[in-house]
Amino acid sequence: MRKENITVRALKRYGGFNKKYFPLRFFRILFECFSPYFNLWMSAEIVTALYEKQEKRVIFLLITITLFGNLFVHTMGALLGHLVNLEFKRLCDKEAAAFNQKTVSLDYSKLEDPKIRVLRRKIKENAFVNGYGVNCMRTSVEGILRSVISLAFAGVLFAEMLTRIASAEFEWLTWILLALMVVFTALAILAKNAVQEKEAGVFKRLNDWMLKENQLGQGHSLNGMDARVYKQQPILTRLEMKMNREHLALFSWARWRTWLHITPHILLSKIPEICAYTIVCFYCVRNIFPIGSVIKYVGYLYQFPMEILSIFYFRAELRNNEQFLVPYLEYLNLPNDMYQGTLAVEKRSDKKYDVEFRNVSFKYAGSDKYALKNVNMTFKVGERLAVVGMNGSGKTTFIKLMCRLYDPTEGEIYMNDFNIRKYDYRQYLDLFSVVFQDFSLLALPLGNNVSSSETWDAERAERCLRGVGLGERYDAMPKGLETPITKHFDDEGVNVSGGEAQKIALARALYRDAPFIILDEPTAALDPIAEAEIYSKFDEIVGDKTAIYISHRLSSCRFCDKIAVFDKGELVQLGSHEELLADQNGKYYELWTAQAQYYTK
Ligand code: ADP
Repeated sequence: MRKENITVRALKRYGGFNKKYFPLRFFRILFECFSPYFNLWMSAEIVTALYEKQEKRVIFLLITITLFGNLFVHTMGALLGHLVNLEFKRLCDKEAAAFNQKTVSLDYSKLEDPKIRVLRRKIKENAFVNGYGVNCMRTSVEGILRSVISLAFAGVLFAEMLTRIASAEFEWLTWILLALMVVFTALAILAKNAVQEKEAGVFKRLNDWMLKENQLGQGHSLNGMDARVYKQQPILTRLEMKMNREHLALFSWARWRTWLHITPHILLSKIPEICAYTIVCFYCVRNIFPIGSVIKYVGYLYQFPMEILSIFYFRAELRNNEQFLVPYLEYLNLPNDMYQGTLAVEKRSDKKYDVEFRNVSFKYAGSDKYALKNVNMTFKVGERLAVVGMNGSGKTTFIKLMCRLYDPTEGEIYMNDFNIRKYDYRQYLDLFSVVFQDFSLLALPLGNNVSSSETWDAERAERCLRGVGLGERYDAMPKGLETPITKHFDDEGVNVSGGEAQKIALARALYRDAPFIILDEPTAALDPIAEAEIYSKFDEIVGDKTAIYISHRLSSCRFCDKIAVFDKGELVQLGSHEELLADQNGKYYELWTAQAQYYTK
């Protein structure tokens, strides 16, 4: 990424979210900048007219122009301000939507990649904790625009003043003072530029520290119960005080540094101001400038170097901000590498889909360890396959590969004799109804959750809810399928328990009616009675679908046709419960006897 183009590229992308915003902002700034110059000008004219004892008619006219001019400028300014705020809101909404859209459309493997997670977190933290990124870019660009427009207005007055000076007798002092103004403005800019890098370093240090503090704060987010039971408050309070002390020390250091850096620049920039006063007073005393010019010329002569300095300040701010735009652009431009496939998935009425894993191995991004190693397995439609093994043995990874959330690092997965990569990805996903261990529900009505869509077939949704044993709870819901399942957005919403949420996730899987149903620890959050109820209905729930079912509770796997036993990423056994139990040296026997002892003792 070429550095000099970063801001321009980010600006184009950002401005593209709402093409009306920047033109409106330009006009708003134009009115904002015009207002003080107009008032300076008119005040000077009124003072001069009063001093020169002009006719009342003239003075009245000047006052009327000032009042109506201000009325117009302020009314237009307020109207433009309102429009700008409206368009800014639209821009922010679109920008946030584009960011979220990027996240949801990203290959799952990338979404989970630790490096990309860090990138996403950095963008958000820089924006929310310190305001860097696109927001800083916008305010800096607007700052530059404001200064350029102000300079243009000041230029008009400056030209008027130079014409007056040029028409008067030649005075060395004037030109020396004007030259001093230019020289000291330039020196003030140089002084500011000289410390720019040091200043950026100070802010970077402060910024990094605040990001660390924010992460620590999140890491220590208190679960009130643990903190109380383990009496953690004193440790946490001490930690908080230590962090506050560190923050204060760093903050004070940063402020002192900034003060030291900025002082030469402030002193140097005062000299042009003194020169401006001297020139204007000099000509006023000699009646070359009208008396009102003191107000007019001093105001803008002072403003002139200030605006130039401000342009340099915002330019440096833009440069400093580039480091925060890099992750932003990098994230938005992340390509999706996963091959999407083109082969149409056959919609078979007999639901005959055979799956085969051939020498499949897999490593997660950023990990050198194989999560799955050389897995070979075939299973046929209509079979009930249980997948068992200790924590971390690769069961969930096996499911994720099968659903193509990840592609294997080595080996291939086939469905009906075609590599699953060849199938149209969206169609392929439609083959699976999955209840993941860490499933998530939407903060929307029950109907949306069960159908995963904006509309739903009420009869089918109700059947699925009753099928998973949620009938009674459903009957008690005040608005039936319209009932939101949180209270976040609607007081009439209901809060569901972990077990009920898991049942809703099960009902969602059933509603989809896909040929494969995959349940990863489907009853982990259920009480024993609800669990027994689900098991007793399991055949009914699954029907003629192919079911893959991960469980820690081996007793619940007995009814499956085949049981796949995973150990340290490898498929170590495959067979029926009886076959596996017969092998007393096998992993299944070990797991079974370890669990059984709790029930038999
Ligand atoms: P199981 O479902 O049997 O508990 P998993 O399939 O979740 O096991 O995990 C298999 C291995 O892969 C474990 O060592 C786990 O730490 C690792 N793993 C799981 N998910 C990720 C991930 N997103 N990134 C890196 N490693 C992971």
